[in-house]
Amino acid sequence: MTENENLPKTPCRVCGSTQYRRFKRIKGYDLERCADCSLVQITNDLSNLRLDEIYTQEFHDEIYSWQHQEAGKKIAYDKSNYRLDEIERYVPDRGRLFEIGCSFGFFMDAARSRGWQTTGVEVGEYAAKYAIQTLGLEVTHGTTAAANLPADSFDAVAMWDVLEHLDEPLGEMQLVHSLLKKGGLLVLNTPDVDAYMRRLQGSLWRCFIPPAHIAYFNTKSAERLLERTGFRLLERTFALPRERLLQKLKLLDLFKTLGLSDKMLVFAERL
Ligand SMILES: [Zn+2]
Repeated sequence: MTENENLPKTPCRVCGSTQYRRFKRIKGYDLERCADCSLVQITNDLSNLRLDEIYTQEFHDEIYSWQHQEAGKKIAYDKSNYRLDEIERYVPDRGRLFEIGCSFGFFMDAARSRGWQTTGVEVGEYAAKYAIQTLGLEVTHGTTAAANLPADSFDAVAMWDVLEHLDEPLGEMQLVHSLLKKGGLLVLNTPDVDAYMRRLQGSLWRCFIPPAHIAYFNTKSAERLLERTGFRLLERTFALPRERLLQKLKLLDLFKTLGLSDKMLVFAERL
């Protein structure tokens, strides 16, 4: 028994349980699996976590700097347009779209040019500034709660690569529920900790990056989160890199069938 086992545990971020099974220790953080909903999460005390110390210019540059070059930008806009094609299957009339964690704003920019009215939030100051000043988008630098948006006002909410970063995913999803109109669409992607692509890579998985990634979902814990916050799952599939290119090459359906991805893509309806 280690000393940690005598300390009170952080309650599970999805179901509130304090029963965990040891999963992995990565970069000094304890990742443990909830015995009830199966969410894998950091169970160390994160009360001193400072968002502005994580989502710095270096963080965004490291992950997104390629997007500033023309070829990279084309990939970002292709991806955005693929995602919008998918979203518009459910919301053909478009309308008001809210993006959480909009980064530089490329997805919002693509949506705006297709006739959506877009609003976004981004906690990284450097990326938010680009979205506001360079792309002229309606973006708040900060969290969803701080943006103080009107309830029941959005037709769709998008969260790309965001859920895994949240210390309080339950609270954020409750907020998303309140912002969406009844019947509105939630679309998100997040790493799948039980995808076989992840299991092949073990602890070397690219998505094990605590403390930036706090919560690691699988299909069960993602569905539990939706259920608990008033959403109905419409569709769950795989998120893939370069989806438009794969579609052109007629490989997208094959890749999805084989599950050649470590991320899930989820569509849900606000009840
Ligand atoms: Zn749980």
